[in-house]
Amino acid sequence: AIYLDYNASAPMRACVVDAVRGLLAEPGNASSVHGPGRAARARIESARAAVGRLAGIPAQHVTFTSGATEANVTALSPDWKVSGVERWFTRLLVGATEHPSVTSGGRFPAEAVETIPVDASGLVDVDALARRVAYLQEDGELPLVSVMAANNETGVLQPLERIGEALAGSDCLLHVDAVQAAGRIPLDMTAWGAASMALSAHKIGGPQGAGALVLRDEQTGPRPLLRGGGQEGWRRAGTENTLAIAGFGVAAHAALGELGACDEITRLRDGLEQGLCHIWNDTIRFGTDAQRLPNTCCFAVPGVAAETALIALDMEGIAVSSGSACSSGKVSASPVLLAMGVPRDLARCAIRISLGPETTAAEIETFLAAWQRISRRIREASAGRAA
Ligand code: PMP
Repeated sequence: AIYLDYNASAPMRACVVDAVRGLLAEPGNASSVHGPGRAARARIESARAAVGRLAGIPAQHVTFTSGATEANVTALSPDWKVSGVERWFTRLLVGATEHPSVTSGGRFPAEAVETIPVDASGLVDVDALARRVAYLQEDGELPLVSVMAANNETGVLQPLERIGEALAGSDCLLHVDAVQAAGRIPLDMTAWGAASMALSAHKIGGPQGAGALVLRDEQTGPRPLLRGGGQEGWRRAGTENTLAIAGFGVAAHAALGELGACDEITRLRDGLEQGLCHIWNDTIRFGTDAQRLPNTCCFAVPGVAAETALIALDMEGIAVSSGSACSSGKVSASPVLLAMGVPRDLARCAIRISLGPETTAAEIETFLAAWQRISRRIREASAGRAA
């Protein structure tokens, strides 16, 4: 089987499997004072240090959550403490290509959520954002802004430094969904001017069901989403998922060590794209006018419906993804591509291939050979129907 869907979930790294397996029968609750409890606490704190290093932020600024969805929803709160002082955001501005856990607006009422458009290359319109923020502030409103570091479908990197500059000097805060950026490009909340950042363990080869909300300044953070016990410094109640958090720490450590090795993945991805364009010279690649993650390729061939192609590839043991709607199990046109102005018919043909540190040149070759056969069959069938 060939797995080319790392942006959906990266396979658990061998070092993570080993670490987690060794903990399966460890009963300790990290809040307990006895030995097993202290052992669980030590594992969580060591993971916190590793995630802090990946995030470029002191360990105590990391709050573990059940994943990036929870981290995003926690951050997208009208109610924040800023330098320890209560602040109430009246609006939420989100990029048009954000993950659904952001576009759904978190804890803001639906009428307070606004979308900032992206251009054809997928980049947030920074001038439109700056104008909207200035207008809202003149009107006595206070916006919170949420823009992702890298898009999960296209790999497009948002101009976070420019966004941070545009917001500097205003009272707005910036939250960054850095799920797809982690381990692939450096994370730099200071350069981005970000107050908070969401991370997910399973995108960097850790277990599913762990993530983190990272704060740049410990005194500046959202009101907790889950309230109850005093876990995670009162920022997130509930007994910690020690197993998944420990695995997250091991994965974060490994991912940080790999940052320098992205050239090889870029080379494989570029070779893949050349191969695709060689098979069909009318192949359209999305997001290539902007800076992109090294591992992501999103493309379409007109007349080759993604849904049909995915099933055919799956029957050959090759796992790739369609543009979107992966969570609902059926393929519809990707809102990300539609926001970039891609016509709906073409968006239905979008396929995403995302590589990881384990991907080999031989796997790319096998994929391309399968793609040549499958896409020709589908294209001929759809041309036949049209005739
Ligand atoms: N943001 C982005 C950009 C993502 O790709 C994902 C995962 N699809 C999430 C947030 C949600 O992460 P999790 O699965 O940890 O809830």
